[in-house]
Amino acid sequence: MLYESTRGEFRKVSSAEAIKLGIAPDGGLFVPSEIKKISASKLAEMTGSTYQDKAGIILKDYLSDFTEEEIRECVSKGYGHARFDVPEIAPLRQLDSSLHVLELWHGPTSAFKDMALQILPHLMTRAAAKTGEKSTIVILVATSGDTGKAALEGFRDVPGTKIIVFYPQEGVSRMQKLQMVTQEGSNVAVVAVQGNFDDAQTGVKSIFGDKQFNLELSRQNYSLSSANSINWGRLVPQIVYYFSAYLDLLARGCIKQDEKINFVVPTGNFGNILAAYYASQMGLPVNRLVCASNANNVLTDFIHTGIYNRDRDFKKTLSPSMDILISSNLERLLYHLCNRDPARVRGWMSDLNQKGVYNIDKDTRAGIDRMFWSAYSNDQETLETIRSVYQRYGYLVDTHTAVGLSVYQKYAAATGDVARTVVASTASPFKFNESVARAILGEEAVKGKDEFELLQALGETSGVAIPGGLRGLDQKPVLFKEAAAKGQMKAFVRKILSV
Ligand SMILES: *Cc1c(COP(=O)(O)O)cnc(C)c1O
Repeated sequence: MLYESTRGEFRKVSSAEAIKLGIAPDGGLFVPSEIKKISASKLAEMTGSTYQDKAGIILKDYLSDFTEEEIRECVSKGYGHARFDVPEIAPLRQLDSSLHVLELWHGPTSAFKDMALQILPHLMTRAAAKTGEKSTIVILVATSGDTGKAALEGFRDVPGTKIIVFYPQEGVSRMQKLQMVTQEGSNVAVVAVQGNFDDAQTGVKSIFGDKQFNLELSRQNYSLSSANSINWGRLVPQIVYYFSAYLDLLARGCIKQDEKINFVVPTGNFGNILAAYYASQMGLPVNRLVCASNANNVLTDFIHTGIYNRDRDFKKTLSPSMDILISSNLERLLYHLCNRDPARVRGWMSDLNQKGVYNIDKDTRAGIDRMFWSAYSNDQETLETIRSVYQRYGYLVDTHTAVGLSVYQKYAAATGDVARTVVASTASPFKFNESVARAILGEEAVKGKDEFELLQALGETSGVAIPGGLRGLDQKPVLFKEAAAKGQMKAFVRKILSV
């Protein structure tokens, strides 16, 4: 299976090369040259198998230049029981007769990014070996909060790699920041950026696109790669849990064979929901994909109008990992929906770059209407949802998951659709504990308490165990204190790599 760039100006590459490169050198994103169908017999084979086996079955089709043995190793290292705190890896919790929550945050950093970033480093080092890469791979990450920590944790001390994470100085929660700046490991660096996530992402993209700098780095035996969801190696492991959720519903008798279900996905960079789209194109019976946005509702507007307009105020919300105005992975969806026409994709992306807005054609829009639905929830609705879900089901959710649940209510009310629905739960409630505590315990109880007192209070109230990676973070030494101005990110890369 080969991979092609959405911009059509680079040769086709193997999966190993796509993973090693991260982003295509023509500025596009790599997509598989064909979407593999999961046959009924493969689905049957997956039924009742472990999460690791399911992952092996899906990955094998897309990473055809990896041996079965290599995939098995990557899967067992990535999804080992030492790394995830439940044997199911991605457990499905039932809230009521039509609503389930897919918990994607049982990995070491308590956010769904672990689902891909625990396995990506293993795929990456094997991809490097396969492509004859001798240089040290330098992973550059722009993070809205959760990717950074998950990537640091995944790549720490992985031989042949270094990782540099840029996060928006004022754009992450205190817990997220502490998780990153206390990161241990011999090959890691963390830098704050004086700007928002889009600034950090734009800075990283421009370093990737800087041919002169890349040449200079390669002379020093460094080659850049990405652990953001623009890397195909991030996306493909995410397809697995949509299958896993469906098969769990089947196994529990909640749905009949071939019954269509909805997935609701709290969305930022459009990576998670895109994986659900791939699952649907592979043959998973999906009715609707509901794209849940927060007040940065550029995707909701796009899905309603076909006009993508990033020219609007960037809002800081209680769901910071979704505070994004440029959703990179949308480019992949558009490429598929316009029947793989790179010229059209180039046009849209150049409009986005130059005018801040693009407008898709009628046919491409029809493809979106067939599969997607979208709404957004503001912070007030998010907090109310955390409260009402806790009161109704005794179940704690974080702010991002609450956006998903709130948008699901809007969806159900607007459409009357009663199909089984799975809401992707993208972070542990303890990771965004201040907002969750405000919702559950009330403003008064939260006043004057620090994050760690709140952690304790939430744990006691809910009776849910506090994840090991969050407990005791306040005791750890802060190892990274530097901040870069927007234009200075490259200089920091130089300094960190001593080039
Ligand atoms: C990254 C993240 C999201 C958004 O996922 P995308 O793949 O970027 O759309 C949502 N919630 C949480 C908690 C996240 O960390």
